[in-house]
This record gives sequence, structure tokens and C-alpha cells, in this order.
Amino acid sequence: MAASSLDREIQKIPYDQESVAVWDDSVKNVRNAFDEKWVDVNLGVWMSTYFNHDRAYVLDAKNRLLYVMADGKEIKVDVKSLTPAITTLIGDLRRQIAGGALDLFEKGTARIPRSVDLAVIDGHPSIVSVMPLVPHSGAVSQMRGSEALIVGVRYLDTSFPTNLEKKYLLSNARFSSADDIKPSEVAYPVTTKNNTFIGNLVWTPELPGRSILRQVVPFIALGLGAVAIAMLFVIRRLRRACADLVGSEEHSRYLAYHDTLTGLPNRAFFVEKLNIELSSLRGNTGSLAVLFLDLDRFKQVNDTLGHAVGDELITHLAAKFSAAVSNEGFIARMGGDEFAIVKTNLSSAEDLRELCERLLKAATESFETLGRRAMVGLSIGVTIAPKDGLDRSELLRKADIAVYQAKLKGGQQFQLFSEDMSKRLVARQQMEAELRCALEKGDELELHFQPIYSSNDLRIKGVESLVRWNHPRLGFVPPLDFIDIAEESGLIGRLGEQVLREACYAAKDWNIETIAVNVSPIQLSQPGFPETVFDILLQAGLPAHKLELEITETALLDSSNFIGKKALRTLRDAGVRIALDDFGTGYSSLNNLISLEVDCVKIDRSFLQPTSSRSVIWAIINMAHAIGLKVTAEGVETEEQKEFLIAVGCDQIQGFHLSRPISKAHFAALLQKQKSGADDAAAA
Ligand code: C2E
Ligand code: CA
Ligand code: CA
Repeated sequence: MAASSLDREIQKIPYDQESVAVWDDSVKNVRNAFDEKWVDVNLGVWMSTYFNHDRAYVLDAKNRLLYVMADGKEIKVDVKSLTPAITTLIGDLRRQIAGGALDLFEKGTARIPRSVDLAVIDGHPSIVSVMPLVPHSGAVSQMRGSEALIVGVRYLDTSFPTNLEKKYLLSNARFSSADDIKPSEVAYPVTTKNNTFIGNLVWTPELPGRSILRQVVPFIALGLGAVAIAMLFVIRRLRRACADLVGSEEHSRYLAYHDTLTGLPNRAFFVEKLNIELSSLRGNTGSLAVLFLDLDRFKQVNDTLGHAVGDELITHLAAKFSAAVSNEGFIARMGGDEFAIVKTNLSSAEDLRELCERLLKAATESFETLGRRAMVGLSIGVTIAPKDGLDRSELLRKADIAVYQAKLKGGQQFQLFSEDMSKRLVARQQMEAELRCALEKGDELELHFQPIYSSNDLRIKGVESLVRWNHPRLGFVPPLDFIDIAEESGLIGRLGEQVLREACYAAKDWNIETIAVNVSPIQLSQPGFPETVFDILLQAGLPAHKLELEITETALLDSSNFIGKKALRTLRDAGVRIALDDFGTGYSSLNNLISLEVDCVKIDRSFLQPTSSRSVIWAIINMAHAIGLKVTAEGVETEEQKEFLIAVGCDQIQGFHLSRPISKAHFAALLQKQKSGADDAAAA
């Protein structure tokens, strides 16, 4: 207790000094223009009256004494009177400063340098502390090495023991340098840092009579022995339990902040880290980027190859992404197939772009597991702080919007957030609500019909139904602007059913071979889809072979779409025709045509572009014919295209050159005209 109270007292002296040492005024009044009056009041008398320092010295940069306070008053002393012990401390402090101690202080990583020790000053055992005077603001500058110093001295043999007595209840505490310790007293030897003895701290302990002591000692010893054995036992148990606890605590802390599958930090960790980075950004000029990563087609991998492969893929990608980020930032797994990255010290847009490209490349590199090849893509949304905000949840929300945009644009790309995206998202959400409303009312959606011609006689053989939305606010809205909204919001089932019903009812009176209806892959994989189709056919009184469902090849090739495939087989078995729509826009090859259960192929209109090779169309047609499929060419816009398609043996043609999609009444009239034309011809 004595030792620690002494220690506390030793540390208190430099602590007192800090209140005047880090102060512009001190530097001005000591070093710049010495003001004796000011120094006396603030560095001398003040230290005595307020902190009980017994002596205070002020020295200039060359260690010359400028001022001395003793017992609360300024005194004039000879320069040589500075005790060697103080000179040693001054030397030590000057060395610390030369070694960069003040640089650390200015950076905020260390306290102001000081040199403290015990010493005998003017015959008193004392605590001595030396400290430089430095400015506290940029208003006053000072060359390194030119600091003035203050020295504080606290005698240990004056009021110090009285204080000890009061604070720590040590009775009759005193400091003694002489060999005068009485038998009733105990002493604690006080030494300097290099072990020079400077005296004893002495006090009278509360001691019971020795005779009593002698009587009880054996019992106490016995008791203590028993207690010691019990304690040993308890301590061993405790230590083991403690080790277990520490282990499990570390483990649960780790678990709380890490993802068990990949070992990456988790969402909780990410949020904390982002908060820290953002708060260090406030009031700073730097910037950082938040990247939100979402895999494309991950669900397919999981569904077709199983969860084990899915997990392996995630682990594999986590490692690749981590490597791509390396020390440029911090990566976490946010859950499922989502990752997030904070890129700190964002210096240029180029840097950011490179990081995104590395990540995109990492995602697409094929990954072979269990002998299967899994291909995924990656969508990245990026927000930048402080440009897009300094609030964590705002940044994450915006990154999410940007990912969504990347997905909308087809995935495998990165998108930087823009306010524009937010607006588009809001517009989209509004469209969704309005579409829901339109489906309720049932009178805003309207079918148009585009004739499909036979290339032999250029007569209408079939028709494709194309939906339009007569929007009360926006007017006519093309299907490409709302079909994907319907798909995403789960409205496609009802929309598709309405279209199918209307088309079948319209077609039952028309003398055509087929009515084509577009079917979304999502609609196709909804349970009970074939039954819905059969119900509608029955109600409309349309034979199954007159209905042709147009399905895109991506939907057919999606190996995970078991329900869709089964539905197609059921429909085909009942006689419904299936057309492969937009052939050539997905990744199917001619090879795939053989394995797909379809009746007809619709060559996408992009093949008719002047840049496209005509021999490809020729090859597709021949291949399709070889396996017994009919071929329709879409997007025929010129006479020349029409002639070419007829020449290469395309079965049917469809396009603006022949007819645009037209209203139901208009199409009925066109059919009528064709019929009377044929009748006229027959009559003639
Ligand atoms: P699609 O099935 O490929 O339909 C053909 C699209 O090409 C139609 O656009 C049609 O107006 C357009 N088109 C026809 N001939 C030409 C031509 O000579 N030149 C050019 N440039 N275009 C031509 P539309 O009506 O805007 O439909 C776009 C897409 O919306 C359709 O592509 C189809 O995928 C989808 N869609 C339309 N109606 C429905 C529907 O009822 N259900 C579903 N699920 N999707 C539909
Ligand atoms: Ca179509
Ligand atoms: Ca098409």
C-alpha cells in the first residue's frame, strides 16, 4: 500500500505540470519574450498553492535557469545550485525530444514527454519531474529542440507523510533518511530508478501483543494449511473452467462476427466496420466505396447441382473475391449469395473500375466440382461516400438499388449508384401497383394480333397474340416495359391467364391453323399451368392443336426448370404445339434443338440484320427441317428479306413488311378479306 501510494504520488507531479506545459502562453512568456511576473504567477506560485509543489524551476533552451520558486516564493539562486540529479533528468528529457518524442505527442499517440525520478534535493528526499513547454495550438510555432523546460519538485518529508496518514490510515507516517527506526515501526525503503537508496517511509503498524501471537500461531498455521489445500483445489478447478470459458467466449465472439461457411466476416462485422470507416471519414477529405455483390443464376446452381455444390461454389468465390480485394478494402459475406466490400482510401474511378472488373472476372471463371461445371455471373452495385451519403443504411440501400439496376441490365456488370436510379425504382414500383390495379379491372390490357404467313402462298396461316397496356396516365405501354415487372412481382400468372383466355376466345371463330401465345418461363413453371391451359381451351371450345405456346430458349434450357419441362411434355402430349421463340438470342446451339421438345423454331429478327450472315439462317432452316421442325422467321421488314427467306425454304414469315400487330377487329377483317379474295379466285 505504501509502495503504490508513493507510486501514485510520483505520477501526480508530471500530471500537475501538464496543465501549464502544453500552453501557447507558456511558450510566449518564457521562450519568446521572458516575462518574469507572468512566470512567477503561473509557473511558480500557482504550482505551489494549487498542487503543493515545493520547488519549481524554469529553464531556457540551453538549460540555463530563468526562474526558481521555493516554498511558494520566487528566489534568486545561483545557476550552479541545480542538483546533479536534476541535470541528469534534463539530459534524459532532451534525448527523448531529440529521439522524436514530441512528434509522437503531436500525432496524438503519446503523452507529452517527461523525465521523472526520486532524488535528494536540498537535503529533502523528493519527487522530481522535468517537462518541456510546448504550444497547444497552431497559433504559436516552436522549433524542435528549442523548448524551454519546467522542473517540479515535491518533498517527501514535509506534507507528504501527513497526506499518506490521512489517505491510507498509516499511523505516524514519516520519511526518514537516518537509521532511526524504532522496533514498533515498519519501514519501506525508497530508491531512485538506478537503485540509490534515499530514505525510508516509516509508520507504526497495528501489531497485537507478541504473547498472544505465540499462542495462536500453531492454530493459525493449521487453519491456514487447510485453507491453502482447499484453495489450491478450487484454483485448479477455476483455472480449468476459466480456460474453457475464455476459449468458448473467443469462439462465440468469432461466430458472432464470422460466417461459418466461408470464414469471412459476416453482416454484423461489416456493419461495425463500415460505421467506423464512415466516422473516420467525417470532417475528412477522403472517400470510400461500398460495393454490394450479388451472384447471377446462383439459384439455378443450387437447384440443379444441389446445395453441397452451391456451398462449395460460395466458399470458392469467397476466396477469389477476398484475393481480388486483397488489402484495398474489407470484404464480408452478407448472407446467401451476397457479399459486400468497403473499399477504403478511394483514390480514383479507375481504381474502383479495376476492382470491379477483377471481381467480375473471378465470378465467371468456371468452377469444376464433382465433375460438374457451374457457371455464375455477378452483379455489383457501388455507392460512394461521402458523395452518395455518409449514413450507413443510406449507402447500403443505394448500393442495393445499384445492384438491382445491374441485374435489370442482364447481370455480369457493375453499376454506380445515381439519383436517377432511385427515381426509376420508384417509377417501377408505381408501375407495379398500377399493373396490379389494371389486372383487377381487366379492361386496360388489350391483345393485338400479328399475322403469320406461309411462304408458299403468302396467305395467313397463323397469328401471334401480343399484349398491350392501355395505361390511363402513360397511354400505350409496350409489353417489354411491363412483362418483366409482372414476372418479378408475381403478377405474370394472372396476366398470362388473361391473355391466354382472350386469345383462345378470339381464335375460335377464325379460320387459321394456329394462334400463338407467348408464355413466360415463370408462368410455365407455375404448378397447375397445363391444367389452366386445358380449362381455357375447353371453355373457349378451341382444339388443342390450334394453340401454339411460344417459349424462349433460355426457359427451355434452364436445367433447373423441372416443373416447366414436365408441363411442356403434358401440353405436347395433349396436342398443344410448342414454338421455340427468339431462337439464337440465348446460348443454345443448333445441337440443342435436337434435345428440345418443340414443334417449331422462330428465328429471332436479329438474324435478318444486314450484319448477320445469311448462311447461318440457311443452316438453321436445314438443321430444323432435318429433325422435323417448322421454321418461322420473325421481323421481316423488307421485300428483299422476304424473297430471301422464301428462297431458302423458310416455312413461315412474320414482320412489319407483311403486317404490323393489329387490333382484333382489324385482324378479323384481314382474314375476311383474304377469304373473299380466295373465294373470288375460286369463282373465277
Ligand atoms: P416476341 O414474342 O419476339 O414478339 C415479337 C415482337 O416483335 C413484337 O413486339 C412485335 O411487335 C415485334 N415485331 C413484329 N414484326 C416486326 C418487324 O418486322 N420488325 C420489328 N422491329 N419488330 C417486329 P412487342 O409486341 O413489343 O412484344 C415484345 C415482346 O413482348 C414479345 O417479343 C414477347 O416476348 C413479349 N410479349 C408480348 N406479348 C406477351 C404476352 O402476352 N405474354 C408474354 N409472356 N410476353 C409477351
Ligand atoms: Ca413471340
Ligand atoms: Ca420472338
